[in-house]
Amino acid sequence: MKSRHVILRGLVATVIGFAAFGPVVAAANAGQGFADVHVHFNWDQQEIIGAEEIVGKLRAAGVEFAVVAATPSELALELKRVGGDLIIPLFSPYTHELGRNDWYRDERTAILAEEGLSSGQYRGIGEVHFMRGFPPATDNRIFLRLLQLARSFDVPVMIHIDAGNELAFLDLCRDHPELKLMFAHAGGNLYARHIRPVIEQCANVMIEFSARDPWRFGGLTDDDRRLLPGWRELILEYPDRFMTGTDPVWKVTRTQTWDQADDGWSYFEKLLAYHRQWIAELPPPVQQKIRLDNARRFFNVR
Ligand SMILES: [Zn+2]
Ligand SMILES: [Zn+2]
Repeated sequence: MKSRHVILRGLVATVIGFAAFGPVVAAANAGQGFADVHVHFNWDQQEIIGAEEIVGKLRAAGVEFAVVAATPSELALELKRVGGDLIIPLFSPYTHELGRNDWYRDERTAILAEEGLSSGQYRGIGEVHFMRGFPPATDNRIFLRLLQLARSFDVPVMIHIDAGNELAFLDLCRDHPELKLMFAHAGGNLYARHIRPVIEQCANVMIEFSARDPWRFGGLTDDDRRLLPGWRELILEYPDRFMTGTDPVWKVTRTQTWDQADDGWSYFEKLLAYHRQWIAELPPPVQQKIRLDNARRFFNVR
């Protein structure tokens, strides 16, 4: 239980902080450009929200650009048609509604990836999920062909890693130092001590924190939305290696069943505000890097 003293101190700090800077800082942060490096536009979201509405939400929230992985992949291009430069579409190997189940056995995956990348429609590959105990593994043949394409076209790959799989990822990034790899979803059960070796051994990797907000897995900040000590130190030590995103997909919360359309985009503003909040606690030059500059560099956005 918190002591009265601690509660009182917190209250006083909040009141002083709010009176002195609160509304001004909040307003400034809300308007500062933000790169959301992890959003989706999936077939089971389309029943609820269309491309125009998503683009409207991104613009209203001050997002400078959003990296989109869609299932099926083509939906990212639909969003791009509406959003223009706001949208960085990735080629998703999930080329049909249930593609996540069979892409790694399907020769067409790599053919479609090559078409999509060579036409210049897509600016990267992902999201590719690796879940411990389930196929595919990171040495899957089709996946390795996707990595070859990423190398040829010099584009990033967004990889979803669950806890326990970070060692497989470490092998992967060490084996492919020439690839630009994005490690999605640090936080949760992946602590700073799990991520440090990835950062230190693989200069080609960027780490992001989507879906590790208080509503989904957590593990990034405390109850006051300040970075947990391990994360704060790691970020301050390697400020060029982190980005973040909202990942507005809600089925992972289990409050929504799999036979319902996914209403993740209705939480988007809340998720973005959360990320802005923890970033705002960092020194301003580091804020700027994590909010925008690192993603600009990684995704080659001018
Ligand atoms: Zn993911
Ligand atoms: Zn995702």
